Amino acid sequence: MSQRQFYKPKGALNPACAIAAAAMCFTASLIIGGLIGAADSVGSVKLSIVVAIAVLLAVGAAVAVLTRVARVQYPWFAILLCFPSVGLAAYGYAVIRAAFLTGWDAILWNPLDLILFIIALPENLTTSDQYTDETREMTSGEGWFFVGIRLAFACMGMMINPIVTWAMSRNWPPYCAVCRKWISEPIVTNSYALSADKAELKEVAKQFKNGVFEPTDSLAATDNLQGHHFTFEFRYCEDCCDDIYLDVAQVTVDAKDSSKNAKTPLVRKEIVPIELLNKYAKDGVTESTGGDAGEPEAEDAPASI
Ligand SMILES: [Zn+2]
Repeated sequence: MSQRQFYKPKGALNPACAIAAAAMCFTASLIIGGLIGAADSVGSVKLSIVVAIAVLLAVGAAVAVLTRVARVQYPWFAILLCFPSVGLAAYGYAVIRAAFLTGWDAILWNPLDLILFIIALPENLTTSDQYTDETREMTSGEGWFFVGIRLAFACMGMMINPIVTWAMSRNWPPYCAVCRKWISEPIVTNSYALSADKAELKEVAKQFKNGVFEPTDSLAATDNLQGHHFTFEFRYCEDCCDDIYLDVAQVTVDAKDSSKNAKTPLVRKEIVPIELLNKYAKDGVTESTGGDAGEPEAEDAPASI
């Protein structure tokens, strides 16, 4: 059996796209940081913990989305952008938080001023800054705990957000470097129902994962998407007809609420021969979600791989 091949981003990183991605990510991160600074200043302790966890994920998610919008096809670039973005979110947070603590007439923009302010902060905090009703000066230990817990969140954000970006960028569709566009919509989507027999389900899922797609020959294609089923999605660029990419996923639809379904990717963006696409395009239920593409005829489909 020949070596399996999977989608890899191709083409040069377009400088204009890279700059646009950086500009969007940095602006969004500053705003996210500022909003969280405001929420942390006016909220209850409970809210501040919720928003602190939110910031841990929000920046990484925003970077993944905006880098894709800017049409940068390389996940490593998004992950790289994540580090300065988290730094800028922390900066936006500090500016807004300091303004709430000291008053808005002298906003500290200069990073050096902010650092000096943070260093002096533990000695100058009052307990009311920690959202209690009583007002007395915090002890040095309490003050450092107040500042330290926020610094700890910033450090965790630096570690967790690139992981969020990486996880989200795995779900990016293939990118056509020739036409400079994402190939988002599948051209052919087939679904195969399966009984809820756990052993059978596991066995078929394992075969698909290993690139053995023959089990679909004995399964009925279906558009009745209840219970357990497998989806086969084929994508290719309709303008240049480059490689054909196959995604296979196992989907479990909740019996009570069909909008709830769990999707487990089994195969991601595998490059497959045209014969496989043609076989599945003719196979039973074929939904075309790719505009007016319809069911690809032999002459419409990519001519060669
Ligand atoms: Zn193309």
